[in-house]
Amino acid sequence: MEKGKELYSGKAKSVFETTDPTQLVMVFRDDTSAFDGIKVEKLNRKGMVNNRFSAFIMDQLEGAGVATHHERLLSETESLVKRLDMIPVECVVRNIATGSLCKRLGVEDGIDLTPPTFEFFLKNDDLHDPMINEYHIRSFNWASQSEIDVMIERTFEVNDILTKMFSAAGMLLVDFKLEYGRFDGALLLGDEFTPDGCRLWDTDTRKKLDKDRFRRGLGGVVEAYEEVAMRLGVDLGQPIA
Ligand code: ADP
Ligand code: UDP
Repeated sequence: MEKGKELYSGKAKSVFETTDPTQLVMVFRDDTSAFDGIKVEKLNRKGMVNNRFSAFIMDQLEGAGVATHHERLLSETESLVKRLDMIPVECVVRNIATGSLCKRLGVEDGIDLTPPTFEFFLKNDDLHDPMINEYHIRSFNWASQSEIDVMIERTFEVNDILTKMFSAAGMLLVDFKLEYGRFDGALLLGDEFTPDGCRLWDTDTRKKLDKDRFRRGLGGVVEAYEEVAMRLGVDLGQPIA
């Protein structure tokens, strides 16, 4: 697949056109950022690990009936995806309180959330991705009511599928962020699912195995991502067809 014009270069990935107007090449770079791009570093192998990890999770989700943009791996750091008209909101589900929720609401870090909670954030780095609600999404026409309903329902469905998957591999899925986009009249899961966009703790020790290792300067970031991949059975050395 020939890469065409670069459409967008974000904080961790770049997106290129292809000869097919309905498809894009998504390149996972080694760049790692936190705190709205204030802390930035290149972490060796992270692009490769995240590319393969996200492809694995998207395949698992497809197998469980969740429609995603993922087509196939193209190389160690590149995937072919369907070109979506992205909805500019982030959908976050939280099973355990931590991160911005604790700062915002003053709740204790690490408490179980039963039932899990859901939040929308606006994708806008300049405004530091502010939290928004369904009324904002409707009033500013970022998405329709039925799209909002699908995003909430599907994100909880993904939570059910992945919570079980990570649990079977000895990990707690603490929280995660998803993005959706429109394709041919349907709403598909887009972007990525990697330890960059979720929190994973070892079930027994609660050791952090996600991007909080980078945010907090704990070290061993990519090693933790590789451990998560290994526990799930993602073959990082598998030849790409
Ligand atoms: P950010 O924009 O937050 O820095 P990235 O570096 O991950 O994020 O850049 C990836 C960009 O590609 C994001 O803006 C994301 O919304 C967008 N994107 C993800 N999947 C698709 C897709 N299938 N079609 C079009 N755009 C996509
Ligand atoms: N998240 C993300 N991108 C963002 C904001 C959050 O992937 O721009 C993920 C983050 O990795 C975590 C979840 O969404 O898994 C909830 O993040 P939180 O609101 O606690 O924000 P943070 O503490 O990271 O600022």
